[in-house]
Amino acid sequence: MANLELKNLHKSFGSVDVIKGVDLKVEHGEFVVFVGPSGCGKSTLLRMIAGLEDISSGELRIGGKLCNDVQPRDRGVAMVFQSYALYPHMTVYDNVGFGLKLAKTPEAIRDAKIREAARILQMEHLLQRKPAALSGGQRQRVAIGRAIVRQPEVFLFDEPLSNLDAALRGDMRVELAKLHNDLGATMIYVTHDQVEAMTLADKIVVLNQGVVQQVGTPLDLYHHPANLFVAAFIGAPKMNLLPVTVAASSPTSVTVHSAVMAPVTLPLDGKALKSGDTATLGLRPHHLLPAPDGAIAGKVVLVERLGNETIVNLTLPSGQTMIAALGSESNAAMGETLTLGFAPDKALLFNAEGNNQQVI
Ligand code: ADP
Ligand code: MG
Repeated sequence: MANLELKNLHKSFGSVDVIKGVDLKVEHGEFVVFVGPSGCGKSTLLRMIAGLEDISSGELRIGGKLCNDVQPRDRGVAMVFQSYALYPHMTVYDNVGFGLKLAKTPEAIRDAKIREAARILQMEHLLQRKPAALSGGQRQRVAIGRAIVRQPEVFLFDEPLSNLDAALRGDMRVELAKLHNDLGATMIYVTHDQVEAMTLADKIVVLNQGVVQQVGTPLDLYHHPANLFVAAFIGAPKMNLLPVTVAASSPTSVTVHSAVMAPVTLPLDGKALKSGDTATLGLRPHHLLPAPDGAIAGKVVLVERLGNETIVNLTLPSGQTMIAALGSESNAAMGETLTLGFAPDKALLFNAEGNNQQVI
């Protein structure tokens, strides 16, 4: 096991800056997830840690040791890719042990390590098969087995479940969480899927355009998103974001209103806001509830009855869509006008720059 420290890491491809000054600490044994939209630099950052991409500037330390110029094989890391990259002509046993064979590990030790990895991954019965005779999930397990036998200080995963169907992704997610528990290893995991990030991570790093937007536990990010980007990225269905105007503000409260919303007073620190400022109100679908005297009314355009809850899509008089997650017993009907309310302490407010205003 090892900790990692990234200090002001930069990466450019020619004149294009892809990673723009990333600072991050990863503790021993932590499960850290890099999440963000496609193209934001997640793989590049992971590959810089693995040593598969040069670091343009900044410092990378693994277990305290400066690793910028250390060869990939000497960093104590093992990477698992989205494409499993198995050798088709070799059995599972030989695929898992290939790296050890190259490193001239004595056969008895190699055999013990392969069997131990197979036991951990519950694939002892597959050892003599070739990859063509395996399902997608089994192939991914072989790729993980190949990382386990190297006993790395740090496991690096780049979207390892993206090629699997939804049900299998769910199963493998549980297996990865167990694996992390069993091995107690430091793991860094890249995904564009916020559900994977929320369920696996001790700590999530949200990236956008090569810049870290926020680092925190899953619930930190859900309840206290630092800015509009994180607010919109984390949580399903997505947070509703309504343009509003500040009517009044004080160190302990902010009153906002809009053409489609009656004035609402929120228990927030309004010192940095003044009357007339534009802002964005953030309302989670799960925090909205039908209320005859609620602040917002809209026309129901879609009702999705999921069993455990009912997702209602409304169109506001402004044309904006709003989503409410109501109880399964909701009798909301297409075409009707629904009035919604919310508890003021559940609402978030973002200033004109998109930054979350402090909760008092
Ligand atoms: P992600 O994994 O988040 O989808 P990547 O790290 O793969 O994103 O890519 C980040 C950005 O860097 C993208 O705009 C991509 O086109 C660019 N990029 C990645 N690799 C290279 C490369 N070898 N040469 C030039 N541009 C690259
Ligand atoms: Mg990628």
